[in-house]
Amino acid sequence: MQPIRTFNVTPSLPPRLEPLRKLAYNLHWDWNVETKDLFRRLDRDLWESSRHNPVLMLGTISQTRLQELAEDEGFIAQMERAVQQLEDYHHRLTWYHKKRKLGQQVKQMGSMEGDDSSQSKIQNSECYVYFSMEFGLADCVPIYSGGLGVLAGDHLKSASDLGLPLVGVGLLYQEGYFSQFLNADGWQSEHYPINDFYNMPLHLECHPDGTEIRIEVDYPGRKVYARIWRIQVGTVPLYLLDTNIDANASQYDHDITDRLYGGDIDMRIHQEMMLGIGGVRALRALGLKPTAYHMNEGHSAFLSLERIRVLMQEEGLSYAQATAVVKSSSIFTTHTPVPAGIDLFPPDKVMYYLGYYGDGFGLKREEFLALGREETGDLTAPFSMAILAIKMATFVNGVAQLHGVVSRSMFKGLWPDLPLEEVPITAITNGVHARSCVSPVMQGLYDRYLGPRWERAGSTDPLWERVTSIPDEELWRYHERCRAELVVFVRERLAQKLRDRGASPAEIGHAGEVLDPGVLTIGFARRFATYKRATLWMRDRERIKRILQANKKRKVQFIIAGKAHPHDIPGKELIREINHFIREEGMSRSVVFIPDYDLHVGRLMVAGCDVWLNTPRRPREASGTSGMKASMNGLLNLSVLDGWWDEADYVRTGWPIGHGEDYDDLNYQDLVEANSLYELLEQEVVPLFYERDTEDIPRGWVSKMKDAIRLNCPFFNTARMVREYGTRAYFAASDRYFTMTREGYRPARELADWKNKLFDRWYKMKIESIDVSGGSQIQVGQTINVKARIDLADLSADDLQVQLYTGLVNASGDIVNGVPAVMEYQGQDPQSGTSIYTGNITYTYSGLQGMSLRILPKHEYLSSPYDLGLILWAQ
Ligand SMILES: *Cc1c(COP(=O)(O)O)cnc(C)c1O
Repeated sequence: MQPIRTFNVTPSLPPRLEPLRKLAYNLHWDWNVETKDLFRRLDRDLWESSRHNPVLMLGTISQTRLQELAEDEGFIAQMERAVQQLEDYHHRLTWYHKKRKLGQQVKQMGSMEGDDSSQSKIQNSECYVYFSMEFGLADCVPIYSGGLGVLAGDHLKSASDLGLPLVGVGLLYQEGYFSQFLNADGWQSEHYPINDFYNMPLHLECHPDGTEIRIEVDYPGRKVYARIWRIQVGTVPLYLLDTNIDANASQYDHDITDRLYGGDIDMRIHQEMMLGIGGVRALRALGLKPTAYHMNEGHSAFLSLERIRVLMQEEGLSYAQATAVVKSSSIFTTHTPVPAGIDLFPPDKVMYYLGYYGDGFGLKREEFLALGREETGDLTAPFSMAILAIKMATFVNGVAQLHGVVSRSMFKGLWPDLPLEEVPITAITNGVHARSCVSPVMQGLYDRYLGPRWERAGSTDPLWERVTSIPDEELWRYHERCRAELVVFVRERLAQKLRDRGASPAEIGHAGEVLDPGVLTIGFARRFATYKRATLWMRDRERIKRILQANKKRKVQFIIAGKAHPHDIPGKELIREINHFIREEGMSRSVVFIPDYDLHVGRLMVAGCDVWLNTPRRPREASGTSGMKASMNGLLNLSVLDGWWDEADYVRTGWPIGHGEDYDDLNYQDLVEANSLYELLEQEVVPLFYERDTEDIPRGWVSKMKDAIRLNCPFFNTARMVREYGTRAYFAASDRYFTMTREGYRPARELADWKNKLFDRWYKMKIESIDVSGGSQIQVGQTINVKARIDLADLSADDLQVQLYTGLVNASGDIVNGVPAVMEYQGQDPQSGTSIYTGNITYTYSGLQGMSLRILPKHEYLSSPYDLGLILWAQ
């Protein structure tokens, strides 16, 4: 039955409780212990059954209970404290303000003369926008599927904490990510809950007259409309598009924002067009003018096409000029270390859906498709969203140092003339949001001993030295409390799931007896993608059984959680295998699989286990973040040297499995690494955990816990990560945007014209001769002088930079890890007209050294010399 009219009924609160509404509609409550506590206090059962959704709670809680609370002085006082905290949060002097605004003011005062007022304008109108297909913010906003989403959510939270002028853009899915059910055989099935937007912390964006703001995106033969919802994440707004509205005629169009990563390849293109193109239009409809665009993964890369179109149509720029503006202000973060993880679309489909952009740009079919391809000349090659994003960005990064290395070799084909180590893809290591992932119990402890600043204090802050002064007994007691809470939670969750499945009372009763709150607990929670090898630990069943139970005084237990992608049959097999293992070996007390891994389960596990296990096939885990969350709570990581762990102090803060080898024989790799895992458990982990003193404190273990907190907390968090994005990417991108757009886009026009000139004339240049002083025998410390004669043809010395490039020569005759040194222009030879450059090299170590010479483009508005892909090497 369709309604003839609909009404948006909002909760009615007693006037005294009115501030609750404001608190409920800002996700800041999610990382503020006091406010979260306040909502729990409203009604404990409702808090749990609503999946921690304060908005839904306010709409469903009984009026009697509300009246009661309105007269409860204790409650009112707590509410007022929470309101005050939110108020204070909005009015703090933030990192951004200190770093950027005050810094700029000082700079301005230093250079008063000449410059117009553009500097102060810059600072007031700066806006960074962060695009992501998923956001993992809170349990009651299920629009994420895993690590990528949680990272995006944490990015927004820290951007808010740091005061960045950032907004998020994403899609609002009608169906939340699935709930996981296991049948009696341990096979996963999925249930997709329907999101009720009116009972979530969402605001519908409307015009002043109350009608909803609507944007449109062109698809073949029709327009699709979307409305815009906002979630307030502290001071950061997140705008989410929703196509499930009457203005769209077909069910297909309603379904574009139905499910995260839902449907086939056509649906995927529809979704990514809505995110990228619709997202840019939404920002315009809202009156926002971003100055830096951050693409979190390639899904949103179509946004660049839309930006170019707008600049061409509305600002009268050429395609080259518009591209220069877009490129100067775009940032791309890649998250996958494997080609299979990248979105690839068939060329015909790209032309079918987006060909009109190419037409508008004046590009031929192959020129347009080349935006998403390496220049191999293969006309059947698919269109890669990552390549589009890279070509449209000036700052490109992977998400851990090792992942940076892997990404450089994955995409090196885009810079065929550049040595691998110079491929302009850098790394910003991921992090996690401290107040979201550290348990309230531990937060209390850290606040008391370190002071509340610990959540964002950097590695050099002396505050971290105070970790050692936390009494062992206290740290251990707090940690044991987290473990006990986890055990209680697991028992309840299991019983609940068994009841849902209609299990027998005996089975349900048994759920109350699983796990032992005093036993060494190993946690493993992650997506069940096969490369994560969730069953590596049970490869030798007899051996793991001995480890778990042979010694009654040194027992070990496992808590496992995770979802497989609905189409990932091998992933589902792994879940079944674990459940079979539990049953066949009679292990149901010491090995538990908790269904329905989500933020809440994750938070309890990373606080209540003792050891965090991670066994991906290196280097396939780009970063991984759950281990960081664990470390922040004082857990010890037991992990293959992959992702973030490879750059952590893995000896002091846990144990490395293996030594960072790469294997060709996967079966052999499994065997070696499983053995390494067993040995570590038998010889190091279990003994250290059970080595107690007379007060039953494992001193050695606690000391390692302190190292984990002290060394990993300050670095592997999103406060550090977002600061890095700010200082390394956003500030510069935004500055470049202002540079490019000033004086009616004069610099953009100049840069585009100059680029055209370079493309035309570059290859006419000739390196005529290179003269080197001295012979081929040189001693350490000796300097050699180099003089080069170069025919610049139609270019001028201002257009380029000539570099000497030196380094050790490897067995195959290539210079490795070469170091460039700029050569000086000495003017032209009056006779021949060739340009003369000189430079010198001092050899500081011995061995076979090679030297070469190369020429790179140079222009004041060029953000990187590699931008054009032009580089001329001496032959
Ligand atoms: C942190 C987190 C992840 C990411 O963990 P990985 O270690 O990257 O696998 C996934 N899902 C949830 C719910 C999380 O909280």
